[in-house]
Amino acid sequence: MLNYLRSIVQEVNAARDLQSALNIIVQRVKSVMVTEVCSAYLRDGQGNFVLMATDGLNQSSVGQVTLALGEGLVGYVAQREEPINLEQATAHPKYQYFEATGEERYSSFMGVPIIHQRQVLGVLVVQQVERRRFDEGEEAFLVTMSAQLAGVIAHAEATGALKVMGQKARSARFKGVAGSPGVAIGRAVVMSPAADLRSVPFRACTDVDAELAFFNRCLASARNDIKELGKQLEARLNAQEQALFDAYLSMLDDASLGGEVVERIRNGMGAAYAWSEVILEHERNFSSMNDAYLRERAADIRDLGRRVLAYLQESTQKSRVFPENAILLGEELTASMLGEVPKERLAGMVSVQGSSNSHVAILARAMGIPTVMGAVDMPFTQLEGRELIVDGYRGNVYCDPREDLRQHFEAICAEEQELVKGLEALKDLPCETTDKHRVPLWVNTGLMADVVRSLERGAEGVGLYRTEIPFLLRERFPSEEEQRLTYREQLEAFAPKTVTMRTLDIGGDKSLPYFPIDEENPFLGWRGIRVTLDHPEIFLAQVRAMLKASEGLNNMRIMLPMISSVGELDASKALIYRAHQELVEEGYQIEVPPIGVMIEVPAAVYQARELAARSDFLSVGSNDLTQYLLAVDRNNPQVADLYQAFHPAVLRALHQIVRDGHSQGASVGICGELAGDPAAAVLLMAMGYDVLSMNATNLPKVKKVIRSITLEQAEDLLDQVMVQEDVEAVLQCLDKGLESAGLSRLVSGPPTDLTE
Ligand code: PEP
Ligand code: MG
Repeated sequence: MLNYLRSIVQEVNAARDLQSALNIIVQRVKSVMVTEVCSAYLRDGQGNFVLMATDGLNQSSVGQVTLALGEGLVGYVAQREEPINLEQATAHPKYQYFEATGEERYSSFMGVPIIHQRQVLGVLVVQQVERRRFDEGEEAFLVTMSAQLAGVIAHAEATGALKVMGQKARSARFKGVAGSPGVAIGRAVVMSPAADLRSVPFRACTDVDAELAFFNRCLASARNDIKELGKQLEARLNAQEQALFDAYLSMLDDASLGGEVVERIRNGMGAAYAWSEVILEHERNFSSMNDAYLRERAADIRDLGRRVLAYLQESTQKSRVFPENAILLGEELTASMLGEVPKERLAGMVSVQGSSNSHVAILARAMGIPTVMGAVDMPFTQLEGRELIVDGYRGNVYCDPREDLRQHFEAICAEEQELVKGLEALKDLPCETTDKHRVPLWVNTGLMADVVRSLERGAEGVGLYRTEIPFLLRERFPSEEEQRLTYREQLEAFAPKTVTMRTLDIGGDKSLPYFPIDEENPFLGWRGIRVTLDHPEIFLAQVRAMLKASEGLNNMRIMLPMISSVGELDASKALIYRAHQELVEEGYQIEVPPIGVMIEVPAAVYQARELAARSDFLSVGSNDLTQYLLAVDRNNPQVADLYQAFHPAVLRALHQIVRDGHSQGASVGICGELAGDPAAAVLLMAMGYDVLSMNATNLPKVKKVIRSITLEQAEDLLDQVMVQEDVEAVLQCLDKGLESAGLSRLVSGPPTDLTE
């Protein structure tokens, strides 16, 4: 069964469009289940279920038979959201007869809903003349099939919407997760990792002869490489292995892969896209073969594909020109991709993978770039050069927007700019409540670009300098001296204000290209302090660089990420003291800086007291703390709705940390993204947090909100919030409280939703 499932899903994945995908589904399911009918119904824009494909019913009824939710057996399956398996369908009160389908001959009926992200997309039905109940195994097969196909259908629907769109001039909307607030309107630029066959953007070719000549040049270069490699390995390979090189070479011929690509180019397709399409098709064919030897050839095809693709992309990558208002689009955007785009051209970003607390989203917020994450159904390779609107408030992306939609979002952009201008006046005013309670607002940084923005916005210090970001932008570990220069720049830029330097926090979703960490479960694996304690040479070099950089400035604190026991803290402190001692012996005049601990894992919450007693400050990393308390991967869009920073469990942990930290005389701050949420900032202040550290973009809004209320009001609100039992009640309570203080617009952002 598993083989059938796999091969059907693979075939469906390879289908050119939604209709062919559905046709494959009904034909293959009918044949595997040996039934007489298999049909697929999909929900249309009005919420009705339309017969879209059938093998067994009259073909003329496709597109003609439509049922509302709850109507007929199909509508009933959709309404109940569970399978219905009937021996005699006609006897069921919901049975409805459609003459066009010729279905009176079928007695047995089994329908299962096709559900994607809690939405019923359609219903898959099998029918049979013989009166019998489909057995448990058959039911389980259809349910499995439908669950597997739901994502593929959703994806094909999204791609289909895009194709139809051109003709009907209507916008297509793709849903994702709000990554960084703001609205961007611009042109899509697809970012793909080098030689990645699956993310080659579609481009049409305008000059067929030139494109063919270019393609042939690239093929020739790849051929040379393969010959060269064959020669180098000649002595070590047997005749059979040598033959593989010849097979490779012949695959590039006109009569083989090369020929298929040439045909596509002649039809107006760009060479790189045409090549990737042909290779992926062959790779799929080989992977679905029953013979193990042939299946393994898929890897050869892929390898060959990458070699040629590297040549095809070489010149385009080098000469890449970014349009004004570029919107970066990619399967998985990374910090280094951001670095490729001139800052003034970058308007927005959309990533298929990742969620609101992925590190690229955090960077985007720091830079003030509207971003949508986790747009899982977006066919990004098809969007190169298309006009996009990125709604970073609600997590929506609109492609080729209608005029009224564009005007709506342009108005929001203009309004936002006004709001930001209004907030600029706050820059030099203290962050204090109307009854004079002071809360220092600090910033989180990582890039040099953050420094200017932070100072312009009135940051009073740096609560988190993510040292891994400069590491991520390199091709090897930076030397001690290179690090010293980078850190010095940060410290000088903010002096005499405090800069909190966090030791290297890699692992999780931050892996260095030159130090890959490959794990099944990276967020529960080797990350943060666990890596650096295992590599004291890396830790010591970094701490030495930090200490040297602080000489004469004395505005630095050192902070340790991912601490989950006092032993880790003690070991880290011992290394810091050792580095300090060595430097003093070398003649540097440096004080031991304050040392602090990030509270990011539940173990640290319950040991906040002990950790505080051994350190100078605590700082809550609420991004990780939320993921670990709620067991929700911060990077996974599938569970983005469950990542609830206002969950009562998170709020209680936050409250306990500040009480326990203060009981030991430590200062307690927070540097997770939560601190930059104006509503959360009010609660955190009321809990007693000494410092709120956030992205520079949100700082003025937080200041405005805090300057508009009294500490007493904030404490009342906290009292009301802390007795709520679920996140919805917390949010309602907050909305009400802040609305009565006239702050709702600042807290929730503009109303970008538009009925379409
Ligand atoms: C956090 O986890 O809240 C935090 C500030 O660290 P990072 O987001 O870099 O993991
Ligand atoms: Mg963290």
